Amino acid sequence: MYDRCPVCGWRFEREEGYWTGAIAVNMTVTALLIVIILVPVAIALATSQIPVLELMIASLPLPIVLPLLFFRHAKSFWMSFDIMMHPVEPDELR
Ligand SMILES: [Zn+2]
Repeated sequence: MYDRCPVCGWRFEREEGYWTGAIAVNMTVTALLIVIILVPVAIALATSQIPVLELMIASLPLPIVLPLLFFRHAKSFWMSFDIMMHPVEPDELR
């Protein structure tokens, strides 16, 4: 990832620990996706005779794979949200 925007010079990591917000976004989206995916499947399986243990084993990779897939998007989302809340000051450019 570039340190600064090649066009306007805006520094992406605006302060120490800046990406903590992106990590929070990533974890929240991952948890929501897991709930959205697994709860209906678990309910469907609970009403059938298929053991829930297989669902649990099959879903083990989700908490690892989903954050990796969503990492870049979480950073973009966090930067968009942050720039809405704290617009860029002139001294942050170049
Ligand atoms: Zn720019």
